[in-house]
Amino acid sequence: MKLAARVENVSPSMTLIIDAKAKAMKADGIDVCSFSAGEPDFNTPKHIVEAAKAALDAGKTRYGPAAGEPRLREAIAQKLQRDNGLCYNADNILVTNGGKQSIFNLMLAMIEPGDEVIIPAPFWVSYPEMVKLAAGTPVILPTTVESQFKVSPEQIRQAITPKTKLLIFNTPSNPTGMVYTPDEVRAIAQVAVEANLWVLSDEIYEKILYDGAQHLSIGAASPDAYERSVVCSGFAKTYAMTGWRVGFLAGPVPLVKSATKIQGHSTSNVCTFAQYGAIAAYEGPQDCVQEMLAAFAERRRYMLEALNAMPGLECPKPDGAFYLFPSIAKTGRSSLDFCSDLLEQYQVATVPGAAFGTDDCIRLSYATDLDTIKRGMERLEKFLHGIL
Ligand code: PLP
Repeated sequence: MKLAARVENVSPSMTLIIDAKAKAMKADGIDVCSFSAGEPDFNTPKHIVEAAKAALDAGKTRYGPAAGEPRLREAIAQKLQRDNGLCYNADNILVTNGGKQSIFNLMLAMIEPGDEVIIPAPFWVSYPEMVKLAAGTPVILPTTVESQFKVSPEQIRQAITPKTKLLIFNTPSNPTGMVYTPDEVRAIAQVAVEANLWVLSDEIYEKILYDGAQHLSIGAASPDAYERSVVCSGFAKTYAMTGWRVGFLAGPVPLVKSATKIQGHSTSNVCTFAQYGAIAAYEGPQDCVQEMLAAFAERRRYMLEALNAMPGLECPKPDGAFYLFPSIAKTGRSSLDFCSDLLEQYQVATVPGAAFGTDDCIRLSYATDLDTIKRGMERLEKFLHGIL
């Protein structure tokens, strides 16, 4: 069969592949320590589950408006005003099937063939592939451990050409966990404003912060930055709602309308009763977030200390998300070889940095229990002693 050219250049999601392999090994009875999934290991908080159950009982089982339930759009707009200082109302919001679809809709709505999209590396696996699916050109900006994997305003300035349309900005970052400080965000916002770029601000990890780190939405950096930015986010990471598939896009009304048109012809509305769970997530108590955060903080401390005590690894301390991104440069291995051998020989699942555009690193997620982390770190240390 002759398949469409648009998919020929697109790579499958390596994170999903590795996660599926680790899950298949587990299903075969193999004791795998898995650090591959970008998914909290907690159950969705009870009050959110109850709200979705009540919605089912109340018959919220039918098609709804493509842009989302009006109450949820309103709740998201209020949250963005309250927490992020972004002046949106319900018309500025599109409810999407996870944060992923909000980014995809934005690409299809905004990118024209040949438009350049600046993506700092390491990047979330789907950004470049989505740009390519929209016939755009990803322009990757490399960063290093020394710069704490943060891109500088100057680097962005130098990458701008007459074709540059969009900058993708993700803080806290997947895969590095790095958080741009408010001053760093303001400096990048200034570059985007001066060059008349749009900014896709992926804020899905905004609540997962440690050691007093602060999150500033790039759209809140200045009135001009607000005009040129779009928030793509969702409920999956903050409220352990990965399987619910609820996210959102927030931005100028014409963009929201156009993205809604795309969604109306592809997936229609997000599962109606799941949206009622999302309303409870934003309107209900937030202590569940603090409890998950306390557990993440403890795991992060343990894993970071363990990694930095191992031969051949170097891991900066990130202030957000639930990932560590150590450099394996001293081992002399490619990230793919490193991760495949580690999984096959010691049954530890990690993700090659190559999937995120940085081949001399690997990603470990600590969104798993402390016992698995302890056992996994022992195995990783043995593996390193074997190869160094
Ligand atoms: N953005 C980033 C940076 C992510 O890490 C993820 C998920 O891993 C998403 C967006 C999409 O999240 P979801 O579609 O599950 O809401």
